[in-house]
This record gives sequence, structure tokens and C-alpha cells, in this order.
Amino acid sequence: MTNSLSSPENILELWGWSSAWEQKRNDEHAQTGVALAPARILAEQRDYMEVITSQGAARAEIKGRLRKHSKVQPAVGDWVLLDASGLIQAVLPRTTCLKRKAAGEGTQIQILAANVDWVFVTTSLNADFNPRKIERFLVAARDSGAKVALIFTKSDLGALNAADAESLLEERLGEIEIVTTSVQNGDGLSDLRRLIGPSETAVFLGSSGVGKSSLVNALLNSDIQLIGEARIDDDKGRHTTTGRHSFLIPNGGVIIDTPGIRELQLADESVRVEDEFSDIEDLALQCKFTNCRHENEKGCAVRTALEDQTISHDRFKSYKKLKEELASHASRRQKGRS
Ligand code: GDP
Ligand code: ZN
Repeated sequence: MTNSLSSPENILELWGWSSAWEQKRNDEHAQTGVALAPARILAEQRDYMEVITSQGAARAEIKGRLRKHSKVQPAVGDWVLLDASGLIQAVLPRTTCLKRKAAGEGTQIQILAANVDWVFVTTSLNADFNPRKIERFLVAARDSGAKVALIFTKSDLGALNAADAESLLEERLGEIEIVTTSVQNGDGLSDLRRLIGPSETAVFLGSSGVGKSSLVNALLNSDIQLIGEARIDDDKGRHTTTGRHSFLIPNGGVIIDTPGIRELQLADESVRVEDEFSDIEDLALQCKFTNCRHENEKGCAVRTALEDQTISHDRFKSYKKLKEELASHASRRQKGRS
């Protein structure tokens, strides 16, 4: 039984392989004289890369010499060439590159994702709408060399209409495609899907809580849970549990949603929970238990405020989510040090 969608020739095409990449591979072969197999990096693990090859999902390690001496270090989204033992021997020249300067002084650049066709700068049409933040995301997005669109989310809330939002941004935007969406009522989802060509790769950039995971879910058109943990189909159609990752959109296209991209949101905004959510943090000090999780503990001041609507459920959700992301960010950094 053959499934045309997973035959070896077009597994890679589903993930964006094209004649242009074939050409780059041939150029590399002409230089090295060795025939190597193409693969795309889907996720970066601590000791290896998860890749997709014409044979399906696999693990690949980086050749020692490449790791030590090459200026180009493989990143998520890269097309690489593997030798027979599955070592990454070469990185094909990138078309685009989403990067950030590493925190602190110096000029170290960290590659968040390579070969991205679309960067979707995402912002919700509600009270958190912030032109300055949007502008900063737009700078990173445009710097990548990818096409950039601005995605408005939560249009169903009716808090801010798209035209008003546009006029608030007008001077900062220049020419830009804007798609107004809602996962509640489906507004704009088919436009968004149409924007991503069949073999194109997209990423969503934007503050925590604006609705990026919800949009990714909607695009994948399934019940895959992206909040916290994600499940992807491996080549054999099995489900694999994994962290944030790269995904195939049914009917074509790739979404990259890796921790690096998530953390750009935190790093670049230098979000301090205490600042953004000082009202909730203050309330939390009044909870009976110091380690209160504000779920159903006795004497929880935050629950009380939710019940009498001093704080909104939406804001509380964003607060919890941000706390969780910061906690997992911190624990990953700890692991990295040990
Ligand atoms: P992310 O942090 O950017 O990935 O945001 P999420 O996708 O996790 O969404 C944050 C919150 O906004 C969740 O409570 C969602 O249910 C809610 N949300 C997302 N999209 C919409 C939308 O289109 N309309 C409304 N009303 N709420 C939304
Ligand atoms: Zn509490």
C-alpha cells in the first residue's frame, strides 16, 4: 500500500524541498565530490537534531569539524546534507534567517530559524494592543529577509476594530499585509491559510497570550494540543509526543514553533511578570498559602478577585501562562548549565 503523500520523493517536498534546493545540493556535491542525502532540521535537542529525510524522521548529529570550524551552525529550518552514518556534513546556503542578538553585551547572534518564508507578527485586538511592541517584532521579522505579515487576533472580542488598530500603527508599518482573525468565529483563517504557499514555512512572533498557539492549532485543523506539549505525526503516521516543534499544515506548508522562537518574545520584551501583572502579584501576596497556585486553595485572594471580577479570567490566564513559560525557560537554562 503506498500513500502518495508519504512516498520518499515527496516527503521532503512537503517540508519545502524544491528544485532550487536541489541546485544548491548539486553545487555542494560538485565541491566535495561526495553524494550526501538532504534533510531538514525540525527541532534542536540537546545532543542531536531532529530531522526529516526522504526516509522519514531521524536523528542527526553535527560533524565535529563542522561544529568547531564552520561559521554556519545548523539551526531549525536548515536544509543540511547527511552522510551515510547520519552525520550532518554541510548546511545548504540559507534563503532567510530569523535571529536575535544573544542577551547581554557583545555581538553574538543566535539563529532562531532558517529558511522561513513568512514571519507573522501577531497581536491581539484588545486592551494589550501595543504599537511599540509590534514595531519591535516587525524589526526582527523584516531583518530575517522573509515576507512579513501582521496578524490581528481575537477580532470576535470587539474590543478594538482592525481599522482603528491599523490607523494606530499607520506611520510605523509601511506596506504590509494584514490579516484579521478569530479562532472563535473563524474570521480570516482561510485568508491566513491561503497566504502560506504549499511548500512555504511560516513562524508566528508575538507576545505571550496574543493567540499564537490557538492560530497554529486552527491552521493544523486538528485537536493537537500545542499548549505545553505538542504531538506530531512521524513519517509512519504514528503520533509522537514532543516539545514545541515544526509542523506540517494539511494541504501544504510548514509551521515552526520552537522554544527559541517562543523565547524571543520573552527576551526581546524583557517581560517582568511583576511589572506587567503587578495587580495580580500584589493579590497573590494576600493568599493564605505562600505557594498558592490560585486554583482551589482555601483563602486564595486571587480566586476571590476573579469571582468578583476585579481581575478578568483572560488576564489571569495570560498571567499563568507567562509564569509557566518563564519557569520552563529558567529550568531549561539551569539544565544547560549543569
Ligand atoms: P499564545 O501565548 O500567543 O500562544 O496564546 P494562546 O493561543 O495560548 O491564547 C491565549 C488566550 O487567548 C487563550 O485563553 C485563548 O483561548 C485566547 N484566544 C486565542 N485566540 C482567541 C480568539 O480568536 N478569540 C478569543 N476570544 N480568545 C482567543
Ligand atoms: Zn491564591
